[in-house]
Amino acid sequence: MPATSKHTRGFTESVIRRMTRIALENGAINLSQGFPDFDPPKDLTAALGRLAPSGPHQYAITWGAANFREALARKQSRCMGIPVDGDRHITVTCGSTEAMIAAMMSTVDPGDRVVVFSPFYENYGADAILSGAEPLYVPLFPPDFCFDRALLRRAFEQRPKALILCNPSNPSGKVFTREELEYIAALAEEFDTWVITDEVYEHIVYSPGKHLYFASLPGMAGRTISCSSLSKTYSITGWRLGYTIAAEEVTGIIRKVHDFLTVGAAAPLMEAAVTALNFPLSYYDEVLASYTRKRDIFLHCLDQAGLRYIKPQGAYYVMVDISEFDKTGDTRFCEWLAREVKVAAVPGSSFFKPLEDGAQVNHLIRFHFAKKEETLRSAGERLKTLRSLWASRGY
Ligand code: GLN
Repeated sequence: MPATSKHTRGFTESVIRRMTRIALENGAINLSQGFPDFDPPKDLTAALGRLAPSGPHQYAITWGAANFREALARKQSRCMGIPVDGDRHITVTCGSTEAMIAAMMSTVDPGDRVVVFSPFYENYGADAILSGAEPLYVPLFPPDFCFDRALLRRAFEQRPKALILCNPSNPSGKVFTREELEYIAALAEEFDTWVITDEVYEHIVYSPGKHLYFASLPGMAGRTISCSSLSKTYSITGWRLGYTIAAEEVTGIIRKVHDFLTVGAAAPLMEAAVTALNFPLSYYDEVLASYTRKRDIFLHCLDQAGLRYIKPQGAYYVMVDISEFDKTGDTRFCEWLAREVKVAAVPGSSFFKPLEDGAQVNHLIRFHFAKKEETLRSAGERLKTLRSLWASRGY
C-alpha cells in the first residue's frame, strides 16, 4: 500500500467518541459526548415534516440558501448587537466544525502559528494540523480557568496568524470576562492577528453572566470570524448546520474554501431551520432556563455523591475533580466509571496540553448535562454508588 499522508499520522481516535463507544459497550448513561437525548422544538420538526414532498431537494446556493441567511442575519444582528448582512457576511457550513476549518484555511498558511487556549475542544488541534499551522497553546489555569497575561503576550510575540477563542468554553464551562476579551482584542490589534471564535454555546451563559460576542468589541468585527451553529441552540446536532460571520472580503475567501470542501449544507434542513431562526427572542430565554435547571439538578447530584467540581458559568459541561480517587490516570478512571458505575465521562487530559514543565493536568473529568432531567437523576443515583464501588474496586 502506498504511504498515507504524514500530517495525519499524529491523529488519534477522538477520545470523546471513544468514550461514547465504551458507554454503549457497558450500558452506561452517556454523559461523555455532548448531545441532547431530548427532541428539538416541535415547530421545527413539524416544518421538516411538511417539506418532505416539496423539497428543496437539490443543491442550495453554495454559501447557504438566501432565506436561511436572511433569517440568520436578522437573529444574529439582534443577538450580537452589530449589523450582520446575509448577502455579505454569512457562509452556511456543515456544522461549526466545518466553519472552523474553513475559517482556518482561509486565513492561515502552512508554517503559520495559531494560538489555542488549553484546555480546548479536540478539533482545534486537528484543524491546525490540517491547515499546516503550528498551534501555540496558552494554559487556562483551573479552577477559574484564567490565563496569565504575560504568557498570552509571549505567544503573541511569536506573531501568530490567528487565535482560536471558544466562548462559552468547552470543556471548562468558562465564560470570558469583558476585561479578558478586551485584553485579547488589544493583542490581536497590536500583532495584527485574526480571531476565530467558536460560540456554539452563545445562548447558554448562566446568570449573572452574559455572553459577549468578540466581534462586537470596538474595532474587532474586521478581524473576527465568528463561528457558530444551530446544533446546541435548537438541539439538532445531527443536522450539521453551522455558519461563519465575517467581513465581506474574508467571507469571499471562506465561501470558496467551503465550496471546495463540501459544496454546501443540506438544502431541506436549511429550509426547515428558517422556522427556528424566526422564533421570538423569548425562545432563547427558555433554552437558558432549561439548561440552568439541568445544571442545578446535575450539580445537586454531584453534591449528593460527594464529588468536587468546578461550577460552570456557561455551556453544558462540568469538570469534576477526581484527585481524591485516582491521581495518575483519568482515562483509567473514566473507563472504570463507565464499566462499574455505569456513567460515562471524558478524561480531562484529552483536553489539556501538558504545561511547559511537562506537567499534565489529569485530575479532572468532564460530564455533560444536555440530558432529560430523568436521565440526569438516574445518573445521579448511580454516582451515589461511586464511593463504595471505588472502595471495593479491582484495580
Ligand atoms: N461538542 C460535543 C462534545 O464536546 C460533541 C463532540 C463531537 O462528537 N462532535 O462532546
